[in-house]
Order: sequence, then structure tokens, then C-alpha cells
Amino acid sequence: MDTDLLRKYLEFYRDLGVKTLYKRPSTADPSPPCGTGILACPSSSLPVLGPEVPPAETAPNPAPLELPALAPAGDTLFQILADIGDCRRCRLHEGRNQIVFGVGNERSPLVFVGEGPGADEDAQGIPFIGRAGQLLTQMIENTAKKEGIQLLRQDVYICNVVKCRPPENRTPEPDEMEICGQFLYRQLMAIRPKAICALGGTAARALTGHKEGVTKMRGKWFNWKDIPVIVTYHPSYLLRPYNQGAKREAWEDMKKALHFVYD
Ligand code: URA
Repeated sequence: MDTDLLRKYLEFYRDLGVKTLYKRPSTADPSPPCGTGILACPSSSLPVLGPEVPPAETAPNPAPLELPALAPAGDTLFQILADIGDCRRCRLHEGRNQIVFGVGNERSPLVFVGEGPGADEDAQGIPFIGRAGQLLTQMIENTAKKEGIQLLRQDVYICNVVKCRPPENRTPEPDEMEICGQFLYRQLMAIRPKAICALGGTAARALTGHKEGVTKMRGKWFNWKDIPVIVTYHPSYLLRPYNQGAKREAWEDMKKALHFVYD
């Protein structure tokens, strides 16, 4: 691999938030395989690059540094799902019933990204299928109808930052988001929508890198790999009785997103 390509890979991982690289064990390594991706092993078991790697002169046949392609050319959602497999790359697999990959139109110009599956999603394997999901569906379909845009939920694509339900619906931990983030990254790269709508703070922070709260970010446009990202409230937040005032703002955000994409 030449330096340009290596630099590109490193930038790619840096954008994903990956801060540690490790060397994949060679096939001669007797330790058990721990997955296919660079993020697949728990960090405690990672062979590290650095002082622990023998200097070149004492390692006659150093294994080449192999970096997996994160968003390979011609990537498809089907391939990404296959690569996720029966994922055990982070602790979230321990409590899940199903991996909740994503649903909708693979060619959608608009993708909604939420935080992670809840109980209903975990039971059915479909994102945003519970109460928050029903509200999201209404928001998409009713706003579209009012605005004279022909659009049903099935026409867009919906997924989450993490694909397994966090215990007690807690916010995903940074390492869980980092590990699962590689698959979100590939989903978005494979679809390359005209715009992304981040639902709530977790998705907003994952996609924009900004740390502000949703109230500050909502209704504004950001950028993810040259794809415009609009932030809005998470539908679960809008379901709480004391947040009813935010509903109108969320509807405004939805209008903005729909007109941007479908006008
Ligand atoms: N909340 C999310 O963030 N995602 C879902 O799929 C359901 C609820």
C-alpha cells in the first residue's frame, strides 16, 4: 500500500472517530479469530502497533498492515448486512434479540437516522416500529401530504446509529457507537442520499461531530461527507407531554427536509 492510500485510510478512520489502530493477527497467530473488521476485537485483546511490534530487523517477515475497506466500491446494503453477520463486536449483543439493520428504500434520497432500537424494534427487527416510530411515520407522511409531496414511509430509508438495543434503552456508549458506526457509515455511503435527517442528539452528534444539544442544532443544516444533514428532535422526546411545544418545531424541520429533497 502506498503512502497516499494509507493516508486516505487513516483520514477515513479519523473521520469515523477511530483513534487506535491495531495490527490484525497473521494467519500463523494461534490466538482465536475475533472478527473481520479493524474494530472487531475488544481493545484489551488487540495486538497494538508501536513499541510492542518487534523492530524490522528482528522481524524478518512482518505481516503487512492490512486495513479493511470500510466503504468498498460497489458496496450494497445486502453486503453490509452480511458483514455484520451475527455481530458480537461490542457488549450490546449480549442483551439483544435481533440486530435492527435498517428499513426502506435503498435508493431513497432521504435517510433518517435515530439512536438505537428500543424494545419493539428489538422484538421485530425493524427500526422505528414502536410508538416513536408511529409518530415518525405520521410526521413523514402527514407533512408530505400537507406540502403536496407524494411520500410514504416506505419511500425513505430509516436506520439507527447502533443496531442492537442498549439495555434499558440507555444512550449508546462512545465505543459502541464507534464500533457500530462503521456500518452506519457504509449504509450512508452505499445509499448516498440527497439529505440525512438526524433524529435526536445521539444521531446529531454522531453525524456532525458537534456537541451542542438538539435544541441548539435543530432546524440547521450540517454536513456529512458532502451530504447535507438536518437535525431535529427525536420522536420519543416529542411523545413526552411536557415537550409538546417542540412538536411544531419538529414539523418545521420536517418540512424543510422534505422540500429540500423533493422540490
Ligand atoms: N428510537 C430510536 O432511536 N430508534 C428506533 O429504531 C426506535 C426508537
